Amino acid sequence: MIFGATGDLAKRKLFPSLYHLFRKGKIAKNFAVVGVARRELSNEEFQAHVKDSVLTSIGKDENIEEFVSHFYYKSNDVSDSDSYIELNQLAVQLDEKYELGGNRIFYLAMAPEFFGTITDHLKQDGLTDTQGFKRLVIEKPFGHDLESAEVLNNQIRASFSEKEIYRIDHYLGKEMVQNIEVIRFANALFEPLWNNRYISNIQITSSEELGVEERGRYYEKSGALRDMVQNHMMQMVALLAMEPPIRLTTDEIRSEKVKVLRALRPLKDEEVKDYFVRGQYDAGSINGTEVQGYREGSNVDPESNTETFVAGKLMIDNFRWAGTPFYIRTGKRMEAKSTKIVIQFKDIPMNLYYNTDKQLSPNLLVIHIQPEEGITLHLNAKKTGQNIETTPVKLNFVNNGVDGMNTPEAYEKLLHDCMRGDATNFTHWDEVKLSWAFTDTISNVWENTTEEEFPNYQAGSMGPLAADKLLAQDGFFWWPFSALEVDEC
Ligand code: NAP
Repeated sequence: MIFGATGDLAKRKLFPSLYHLFRKGKIAKNFAVVGVARRELSNEEFQAHVKDSVLTSIGKDENIEEFVSHFYYKSNDVSDSDSYIELNQLAVQLDEKYELGGNRIFYLAMAPEFFGTITDHLKQDGLTDTQGFKRLVIEKPFGHDLESAEVLNNQIRASFSEKEIYRIDHYLGKEMVQNIEVIRFANALFEPLWNNRYISNIQITSSEELGVEERGRYYEKSGALRDMVQNHMMQMVALLAMEPPIRLTTDEIRSEKVKVLRALRPLKDEEVKDYFVRGQYDAGSINGTEVQGYREGSNVDPESNTETFVAGKLMIDNFRWAGTPFYIRTGKRMEAKSTKIVIQFKDIPMNLYYNTDKQLSPNLLVIHIQPEEGITLHLNAKKTGQNIETTPVKLNFVNNGVDGMNTPEAYEKLLHDCMRGDATNFTHWDEVKLSWAFTDTISNVWENTTEEEFPNYQAGSMGPLAADKLLAQDGFFWWPFSALEVDEC
């Protein structure tokens, strides 16, 4: 059952992903999807909507009629028991028709303020009282801070156990985010070096060209810290820093990630300015098009104090990482849409060789998360000729060039995982709780101090100068995008 089935997420992500799974034979023939939303629609109207979503997104219509024949619609008022009782009657009929064994997945693709009300009703009105499994898939944001997340968690836990809750962080469904573990733990070349003795720093950048667009009302309350750092960025840090799990089970992997979040050095209020930088975009130009500043956007306060950019330094105080900074950077209206991780290795103890600038470039491992998918290893080699000058070389593996067209969408993988009952790539409550505890200190300081410099970066740039200073004070710099682009290699 998809709650919010007439919304944007269902249209752009969920229906196309389900269709992909159907075409690949990953969904059994006996399945039913019930779309639930406020407006009145007949089953036929809803099926036409699903068909249109799939065709718009994928452009294929192989077996589309058969696919949409499994879709049903139920109009629902989130706080009215009668409509849940009717929904349950429909579910029971579909159970019989498709021999579903009472297995139910409830996907809440709705605004978060409805989550608790819906889960209360699912239990109270008998929908969770089923013979088969019951699972709850819940979209971000999971709360606004630790306190609100705890309230929400307690509410949904009254109807579902932790094992039945699948909290979506769609970054965890991305091919190259899932590849972080494999690159680390399946390569003798990297695993022994993956620590503070050989790595000088790690940089994670997730930049967007788009601005806040029509989402001003939501974004004013959220900002980049809550929208990107608390969830996606912290999850990538955990995957990069965790110890090898003793087994590839959900519990073992999650427990290693939780340990990283527990080892994060907490910040005192007065330290926030030394570790974190906030930015807000001004008007500027992106790919030759003039764009307006954040404060000029619709539903945005003309004197808004909301950050559209965050850069930060995270220290992980454990044996493996003590002394090695993890820098993160994310923002809107930046130079390029890109998510990349750069692992910078330490310089070798003595330089016998150097390049024309009398330096030796450090070795870098770049993990390209999106839009390209792949890895690049930056090495030094001898320059052709008789001298001993070095030249940087890059070893490149780019997924897009090989099987990019077949790379499944994150949502496709996550929906499939949920159907199979594999919660590894969903966030456990312990992870959510620890991430909020960390970011709450920063948001509290920022909310209580007006940033006089806002707006402080031009649209189309890589963020404010202060983000560069954050690394410069440690003797590092953000590896520039252009030098690391895959297509240059
Ligand atoms: P949306 O386009 O605004 O859709 C909201 C859905 O909720 C519609 O189907 C709407 O039905 C239904 N709804 C609203 N009020 C209702 C009520 N009182 N009773 C019953 N149904 C009601 O939202 P969305 O963009 O799909 O986002 C849904 C969730 O996913 C949010 O939590 C969002 O933060 C999260 N999310 C979205 C995206 C994305 O790409 N869109 C990405 C990540 C996370 P009617 O239209 O019939 O009223």
